[in-house]
Amino acid sequence: MNKAIRQQFPALHQRINGQPLAYLDSAATCQKPAPVVATIQQFYRRDNANVHRAGYTIAARATEQFEQARATVANYFGMPAKNLVWTRGCTEAINLVAFSWAIHHVNAGDLVLVSGLEHHANLIPWQQVCRTKSAELAIIPVLANGELDQQVFQQQLRRRPKLVALTHVSNVLGTINPVAEMVALAHQYEARVLIDGAQAAAHLTLDVAKLAADFYTFSGHKMYGPTGIGGVLMSDEMLAQCQPWQTGGEMVAEVSYQTASWAEPPYCFEAGTPNIAGAIGLASAISFLQQLPDGWQQHEAELLSYAKQRLAAIDGISLIGEPDEQVAVQSFISTKIHPQDLAQYLDQYGVAVRLGKHCAHPLLSALGVAATLRLSLACYSNRQDIDQLVAAIEAAHQDDV
Ligand code: PLP
Repeated sequence: MNKAIRQQFPALHQRINGQPLAYLDSAATCQKPAPVVATIQQFYRRDNANVHRAGYTIAARATEQFEQARATVANYFGMPAKNLVWTRGCTEAINLVAFSWAIHHVNAGDLVLVSGLEHHANLIPWQQVCRTKSAELAIIPVLANGELDQQVFQQQLRRRPKLVALTHVSNVLGTINPVAEMVALAHQYEARVLIDGAQAAAHLTLDVAKLAADFYTFSGHKMYGPTGIGGVLMSDEMLAQCQPWQTGGEMVAEVSYQTASWAEPPYCFEAGTPNIAGAIGLASAISFLQQLPDGWQQHEAELLSYAKQRLAAIDGISLIGEPDEQVAVQSFISTKIHPQDLAQYLDQYGVAVRLGKHCAHPLLSALGVAATLRLSLACYSNRQDIDQLVAAIEAAHQDDV
């Protein structure tokens, strides 16, 4: 099964420094299956025109494909098309919520509660909102095993935060947060909840309507789609409460020299020409995901335990975090070699892993580590990738670089 999946990814079939590429950085961005690349190429070769404007044939084709893509992507997340606002990616989606909703609804003295596991994308916009509005930012601490401290979460909820912002899956530790329970609890206290789905979308089966999160954000490139496209799924109530954060063409109903009125949501949140090819390419990635053979999630889970077991058996390697529920990501450090030197060594062996603080500086400080190496998996990853990583680490330890 895995072989057939892997064959669809042209980039995986190359040699790096004379070695087969072992791509273990899918949390940073996934490789793209050939049908996604072909869809984008076809759009630019045949159907390229701007959307929602002209009435000629190829413009109508472009608009139809673009809006069909909205429906395909929204439905994948269990939501209607009208509840998906396109953005450049997850970072822009969170900023959209910060500056079209939070800035109007968080007031002086209010509390915004953010998890300690967050990528900077789901932390810094809330720092900015809180600073601007003189609101308080509180953090749900992370336990030593990489899970959130649910007791503190519940204590903080009693202070009735306006908003809870938390990641579905940690990009550093792979922790799957119990978001369904956390959303339900937060709603009991009338808090709004934003879930950052960047690391969940390619690995978990999602039903945002059932989850009932007020905002759910994602990036297309982390789910086999192109870069520069992503979005936020919002409930009807939140769509009605948001105000446009960017203005200009495409997002208006009527305009005079003095004033303008807005188009209906989601269009009023999409000023300017959108990433048309990106949206259509992402819809193609969704078809790819939907056609994956049964068992691909099991394959990822087995591969993650294989990787953990092989890494843990190497003298001088420590795994970081051990959450009960984990997906696709494992951070580790070597007690023998500086992470940067090790990462460079691994590249010589064709192994691509991420190194550093993973855009989560406060989390790494809380964990007491300066930097980690991080392997991350996708449906195309296989045991050979892990074996190649392990062999390269062992060689580096032996060479004592
Ligand atoms: N949130 C998480 C958990 C992430 O891992 C990332 C990227 O790594 C982001 C948000 C930001 O995504 P993007 O850079 O695609 O906007």
